[in-house]
Amino acid sequence: MSESPEPLLSLTDVRKHFPITKGLIKRQVGAVKAVDGISFDVRRGETLGLVGESGCGKTTTGRLITRLIEPTDGRIMFEGRDITHMSQGDLRPLRRDMQMIFQDPYSSLNPRHTVGAIVGAPFRIQGVRTEHGTKKAVQEILELVGLNPEHYNRYPHEFSGGQRQRIGIARTLALKPKLIIADEPVSALDVSIQAQVVNLLEDLQNELDLTYVVIAHDLSVVRHISDRVAVMYLGKIVEIADRKDLYESPMHPYTTALLSAVPIPDVRRRAGRERIRLLGDVPSPINPPPACRFHTRCWKAQEVCRTVEPPLAELATGHRVACHFPENAPAGAVQDTSGTEVPA
Ligand code: SF4
Repeated sequence: MSESPEPLLSLTDVRKHFPITKGLIKRQVGAVKAVDGISFDVRRGETLGLVGESGCGKTTTGRLITRLIEPTDGRIMFEGRDITHMSQGDLRPLRRDMQMIFQDPYSSLNPRHTVGAIVGAPFRIQGVRTEHGTKKAVQEILELVGLNPEHYNRYPHEFSGGQRQRIGIARTLALKPKLIIADEPVSALDVSIQAQVVNLLEDLQNELDLTYVVIAHDLSVVRHISDRVAVMYLGKIVEIADRKDLYESPMHPYTTALLSAVPIPDVRRRAGRERIRLLGDVPSPINPPPACRFHTRCWKAQEVCRTVEPPLAELATGHRVACHFPENAPAGAVQDTSGTEVPA
């Protein structure tokens, strides 16, 4: 991983509220707070895993980063440039550097286009000329992702699910991007081929010096591929840490509960572990609980959790957690970064 001090990507207090409107004049009567004030950096060459239950805002975050949707508030910096409100025209050259892999390899490929046309589309859209022609460039990329370059004229339905995801990955690589947002890149695939695609992503990262944000609900996949992991709950980041720290010493009760549900192959370790079943459903992002949003489901909740929002406080190790009573925290280790007093 590169040690460049400037992050490739930086989000500061980013929000996305989708308005709820009513009547013919579309009067706004509320908002879905899909992302509600998140801040994090992504370093060059690293993989940041973004995890959480369905509806927590992780896919919206991916779309905000790539500016497929407009942020309501906050700031998004990419390579030191503020892209928060950049026009689509100004964003166009930047789109070469920032690509997205979608979850569903079936619906994300146009069934009427050949593989050559699909993977070669970014060259045409961006008006990029290659030294030996687009066909040659596309065939090299197909080979890079483990597909037969002779299959250039075949259609998506002639490939398996894993191969189609490889086609999707090939398309994102066409213009040699710096950042790839992979939204549930393997969740639509058979378990038997998930590992192949994860390994491919890792190999490509090493070979092409890519930076990834991997969005997933499956903590096993994220554990395998990530350098750091951010956990989202109801539009907020509740914990962010190096992979090892997060998996071995989770501090937010929500992370602890998510990890308790991850299958462990080791029978002895599995025997000593208790699964934590969270109470109730995820509350509505239209009207999220006040203060700590997790308090309605947290077995450790106390009065302060219902009245004071816990800041995303940082330990000396860089482990950050938003909880008044974190798990696995050495006494006095959690320092408040917002000025709010954290109860002992
Ligand atoms: Fe649970 Fe309170 Fe921590 Fe929220 S702040 S996660 S309710 S202990």
